[in-house]
Amino acid sequence: MTIRDGVYIAGEWLPGADESAIELYSSGDESVLGSFSPASVSQAGQAARAAALAFPVWSTTNREVRTQALRAIADGIEARTDEFAALATHEVGTTIGISKAVQVGLALNVLRTTADAMDALEVAEEHEGFTVVREPVGVVVAITPWNFPLHQIVAKIAPAIAAGCTVIVKPAELSSLSAIALFEVIHEVGLPAGVVNLICGSGPIVGEALAAHPDVDMVSFTGSTRAGARVGEIAIKDIKKVALELGGKSATIILEDAALEKAVSVSLSAAFTNNGQMCSALTRLIVLRSQLEKVEELLSAAIVKQVIGDPFENGIRVGPMVSAHQRDVVIGYIEKGIAEGATLLAGGPERPAGKGYFVQPTIFTNVRNDMVIAREEIFGPVLVVIPVDTEEEAIDVANDSDYGLSGAVWGADREHAVAVAGKIRTGQVAINGGAFYADAPFGGYKKSGIGRELGSHGLEEFFEYKAIRF
Ligand code: NAD
Repeated sequence: MTIRDGVYIAGEWLPGADESAIELYSSGDESVLGSFSPASVSQAGQAARAAALAFPVWSTTNREVRTQALRAIADGIEARTDEFAALATHEVGTTIGISKAVQVGLALNVLRTTADAMDALEVAEEHEGFTVVREPVGVVVAITPWNFPLHQIVAKIAPAIAAGCTVIVKPAELSSLSAIALFEVIHEVGLPAGVVNLICGSGPIVGEALAAHPDVDMVSFTGSTRAGARVGEIAIKDIKKVALELGGKSATIILEDAALEKAVSVSLSAAFTNNGQMCSALTRLIVLRSQLEKVEELLSAAIVKQVIGDPFENGIRVGPMVSAHQRDVVIGYIEKGIAEGATLLAGGPERPAGKGYFVQPTIFTNVRNDMVIAREEIFGPVLVVIPVDTEEEAIDVANDSDYGLSGAVWGADREHAVAVAGKIRTGQVAINGGAFYADAPFGGYKKSGIGRELGSHGLEEFFEYKAIRF
């Protein structure tokens, strides 16, 4: 089998210089998907140098050149939609329909809406006596997770390129083949050498080397809170700008006047999207005790539709986990929930028969918010139902979390639902199933991160402000 080059520096593909190739497996059937050669620390340094050398010219190109580049990358991805979607389904386990609509569709949307945001941006602002000028931050390291392989990279490189920064991408090991395919598109678009570089390989080795590199001005990280804290510590030591998009344990609150049936079915689907491998997954369902029995009935009926199986087959709603390790972690949490005394409403820790990294879609009820399954991010298809006595308690429970990424409120009185949303300390809140927008700011309070991605707010992260006084 061909070993793919895991390194792209200054417009050239190179074999990674680290000793052995990394092999990746298809999550649905455990077959070998491909392998790539990971970069060495010295190659990470070369990539940082190449980005630093490209910065003076790229940062002064006019914005049309940069936004055109984003639109050309989007067109290049779109032309290969089926290939990118299949790759995400193999790597991550995403069901194929969601791979096309979200894994690929969201990446396209982010590229195009970021180009629009840059076109509309007022780069210089006139004030009484001074002008504020936006200037690109410089060399950016983008470290990304595996759950949305294209989107997570694009959410960083699109605003960085648009702003006039140069970039080194360090993708997750498990989704490196998607990253390599994305860089094939970037190569075809023909950006100047060194504007965007790729370093596939280990986080603690090349990721840390990049975060510490003296040529780097900013580190934009998406991943676990644990790794984000480490990367942030390294970058801050050298006073680099840091943006962190981290974990979540987001809550849905169902208010007394909510349309219960719709609230429950949408909440269940939202919790299990991408097989629960989603930082903003709404994994805690907070319901009034007076409605608990009805909610349990509705959940038991709705879970039947969450059909598990081959993610390439139409009609399948829940695919496998990304890896054997992730499957074992999720099963470990299900066992923990049982041991903690939560009531198993559906699913359980038994592994479905056959190949693939599957776990059963699982619902716990009668969960207390101090249980591990209510506090820690599971990153799999596990929903916990937490009963409360009052609306005030529901809000307290939603906020009683280390995280603050997303949330949802269901209620017939829109104004009241919005007032409840205002009391939840998270970066986004959906009212009655409100859609996800590729240009709405995304990011977290508390241990869910620092900063925002997407749209005009995400673009701002890649600028320094200079005040010119008169
Ligand atoms: P992870 O933290 O293990 O890895 C993320 C990236 O960081 C990978 O590229 C990895 O190689 C790298 N990395 C790991 N340790 C590092 C280190 N010491 N130095 C430098 N780089 C390092 O996360 P994951 O398993 O790939 O993804 C799952 C996690 O990502 C979940 O916690 C999820 O909530 C989070 N996530 C957050 C968002 C968000 O926008 N807030 C989006 C998606 C995923």
